[in-house]
Parts: sequence; C-alpha cells; structure tokens
Amino acid sequence: MKTSSESDPQSTATHDAGSPANAPSPGGRIKTLVILGASGDLTGRLLLPGVARLIASGRAPGLRLVGAGNDAWPAQQWQDRLTESFADALAPGGASTEAGIAELKTVQKDSTYHQLDVTAKGALGAFLKDVEGPVALYFALPPAVSQKACEILAKKDLPAGTRLVMEKPFGSSTESAQELNATLARLVPEDHIHRVDHFLGKSTVLNIMGLRFANRLLEHSWNGDHIEKVEIVFDEPLTLENRARYYDHAGAGRDMIQSHLLQIMAIMAMEPPATLDEHDVRSSIAAVLRASSVGRDGDLAQHTRRARYTAGAIAERAVPNYLDEEGVDPANGTETLAEVEVFVNNWRWAGVPFILRSGKALGRARKEAVVTFKPVPHLPIGFKGTDSPTRLHIGFGPETLTLDLDVNGPGDLFTLDRVQLNAKLSSDPLLPYGEVLDGVLSADPLLSVRGDTAEECWRIVEPTFAAWKANEVPMEEYAAGSMGPETWATSND
Ligand code: NDP
Repeated sequence: MKTSSESDPQSTATHDAGSPANAPSPGGRIKTLVILGASGDLTGRLLLPGVARLIASGRAPGLRLVGAGNDAWPAQQWQDRLTESFADALAPGGASTEAGIAELKTVQKDSTYHQLDVTAKGALGAFLKDVEGPVALYFALPPAVSQKACEILAKKDLPAGTRLVMEKPFGSSTESAQELNATLARLVPEDHIHRVDHFLGKSTVLNIMGLRFANRLLEHSWNGDHIEKVEIVFDEPLTLENRARYYDHAGAGRDMIQSHLLQIMAIMAMEPPATLDEHDVRSSIAAVLRASSVGRDGDLAQHTRRARYTAGAIAERAVPNYLDEEGVDPANGTETLAEVEVFVNNWRWAGVPFILRSGKALGRARKEAVVTFKPVPHLPIGFKGTDSPTRLHIGFGPETLTLDLDVNGPGDLFTLDRVQLNAKLSSDPLLPYGEVLDGVLSADPLLSVRGDTAEECWRIVEPTFAAWKANEVPMEEYAAGSMGPETWATSND
C-alpha cells in the first residue's frame, strides 16, 4: 500500500495527527540497507560501525544488509570487513543488548556483497530487482559517481518506498545542488531523500531545541535585544590525515562551514516549531537560511578570514607545513582554518553576528556554540571588579552546558567575580552515523538536510569562496598546534 507521499511526488511531508509528531509512517520501515561503495573508506570507518551499533542496540529489527562496489570481492573479504567494523558493537557493554548482538550476528551472516558498476546503464536497476523493499540506497560513492548513477536510474527501477541517502558534499555550488535535487526529485519524493549531515545527530539537534524551547527564561532573551553575538566553533587538532584528494579541493570553508556549521547556526536561530515533525522543524531551519548572508555590506574582507597551517607540533607529534603534505597542490589555495560572520536578516536577529569558525591542526579540540549576551543597561555604581558578559556555552562532544555569570565575589561582596554553572547534557549512545541511519531506517527525515536548504547553504557562502579565490581576503598563517593566527582571538581565549 502506498503512503500519500509516495503517490504524490509533489508532497513534501505526511503528518499523522494521531501519532507522536515525529513517528515514522506505518509500514515505512526499511527492510534492506544497500550500501553502494561498500569497499570505500567511509563505509569501513564510519558507516558500518554506525550500522552495527544501531542493530546491536535493538533499534533495527529485521534489517538486511547488502554491499556493492566496483571491485570483485570474494564473499570472505566482505565478511572480513564486517567483522572488523562490527567488533566494537559486538563487545558487551555500551548500548548493545543481548538480543541486539544476536541480531547483528544474523545480519552479518546473511549479508552479501555484489560487484556492480553503478554508472553502467541499467546495472543498478537490474540489481535492485532482486532486493527486498523498502530499500535504503546509500550512495557512499565519489560525488560525481553518485550523480551519474542517479541520472541513469529510472523511477520504475526502485522498489516501492525506496529512500535515497546522499553523502556530502551535496553538489559544489548552488547550481549543481539544484541540478542534483532535480535529478533526485525525478526518482522519489523529497521526504524520501536523506542528505546526510552527521553533525545533525539527534543529541546535538534535540539538546539545542530542548534547551531553547523548554525554558521560558532563555527563549525570552534569545534575540538581538539581548544577545550580542553567537559563535559556532569546530576546531580540531586533526591534520590532513592523508585526505588531500578530498580536502585540498574543499578546505575548511566547504568541508565545515558550508554544511555543518550553517545547519547548527540555523537550529540556534530558528523560530520555535509547533511540533518536532520533520516538516515543522525543517521549515523553521529553511526560513533562517533563506534570511542569511555573510556580512552585511558586501565587504567580505571585513567579515571573513582564512588561514593555513605551517609546520609545528601537536602533542609532541611533528606536523609538516600543510603545503608539504602529500597530495597537496599549492595552486589550490586551500585554507585549513576559516571564519565567516553570518547575519540572519530578520526581526529577531537583525545586526547580531553569527561567527562560524572551523579549522584543523589546532592546539586543542573546541566544539561548541557560545552565546554572548549584551551588558546590563546600568550596573549600579558602587560595584567593583569586571563586569563580564553573561555567556552560555553549548558543547558538542562532549555534550555540555556552561553558563558564565557574574556574582558577588568572595571576601568583598562589592567586587564582582566570575562563576561557571556546568551541566552534562544527554547524548545518544549511538555513533553519529548510527543516529543518522536510525532516521533513515525508521523513514524519518527530521535529521536530514532538506533540498532547498542544501541549495541555500551554497548560496550563502558562494560569494565568500569567490572572494577568497580572487585573493580579496589574505591567506594568513598559523603554526600547527597553536590556537590559530594570534589576531584571531575568540570568546574562549
Ligand atoms: P572512497 O574513494 O574511499 O570509496 C568510494 C567507493 O565508491 C569505493 O567503494 C569504490 O569502489 C566505489 N565506486 C567508485 N566508482 C564506482 C562505480 N562506478 N560503481 C560502483 N562503485 C564505485 O570514498 P569515501 O568512502 O571516502 O567517500 C564516499 C563518499 O562519502 C563521498 O561522497 C565523500 O565525500 C563522503 N564522505 C566521506 C568521508 C570520509 O571520511 N571518507 C566523510 C564524510 C563524507 P572500488 O574501490 O571498488 O572502486
């Protein structure tokens, strides 16, 4: 039986008023997960361990797993890959249950690998005829190969209820994202397309929404009248780690800001949705992105910064200059640290900078959103000490909450002193890819990027990338293991 969205390709969402808002439609649960690109790096390192945790936690009952790749792999080679990727989830403890572990062993035993060139006309369609639906078709392939495979697929090739799972990068510009969206829209309705952003794990998204929308105290002051700036930072000590083939064309801007950080910004800035239904939540996210631009006056040299690491050391490990890393082409002009100031041009946020920053080879990991509140309008005369701004830190891994407040100091009650209130937020025991797959398999696109927002994200950052390419913004330098260029101080420094 078809759901309303399957029979109507224009439909973007179904909503069952009688069930929990974000519950999957009945009968929509995926039967078979087909991984295209099963021999690749993403599949081995991130996807299969995520699948394993999900199954071992008992959240994917009755799932079948099929792998496909370009190379002819003997059955044993696929089994060996599964054994390696499933090892952690099969160990007792964590979120794994006894029944889940038994299920995972069955999934592994029954899993098969198929040689398949997805760019050969008719090959993927013929292959899918023998797969039990509904199917989640995971494109863990190079982006150009995914695009070609989708272009030659026909709607009739897909088992009823098929969901397409697309990896990042989703296109390389607004135009290419539009083309890819049009190609996918020929095949399945929008709410059957899962554009993966593993940053949009359940814990991150729901923790921000819970904090904002379940606390009157906060939401009341969550606007430009009270907030001076919002910083969203993802700094990591990891360096290139042999990923020049991808990263040297992406850089920190495309790798992190264009996708992940803009999505988190939108959740920080969105209007309260009526329900947690994917349609309500993703429409609120889309409204923020539609209103956003980098800078306010077109002066991108004023509102963006970029830098690249030079030789240094991280935790006593010597790190070479980025330009000397294997596979790097200096002509690409790739930045390893990027910062942009985004403005959400609506009533709530007019004039408030959202500073998005991400970089590699930094001296410490820092993954958080920091909300800096404006100073009080009048501090009673007589108080001494520093009147520091109230700051709220939301940590993404570990999931934490810290509130910086001024209180009366010890000893002299007339002197203001800084205190921090700390809390640990809950996190899902699944790995990020387990959380993403949980949504895919239960047919819930809540945590997937919607097509229009994928295009908006490119629209927001494209002028910045053009200005960087034209060298309108200088490429600065920082030593690997430092906190970035000295002039780049942030709220936490
Ligand atoms: P890899 O190059 O490691 O793997 C690509 C896979 O695609 C291989 O299994 C390859 O098979 C297969 N393949 C290539 N051409 C065809 C074809 N014509 N028909 C069938 N299979 C084909 O890439 P990654 O795993 O690193 O990346 C995959 C996707 O995931 C990309 O979109 C990437 O941007 C994204 N991604 C990757 C991350 C990572 O950490 N690796 C992180 C986030 C996203 P064979 O080896 O047999 O040729």
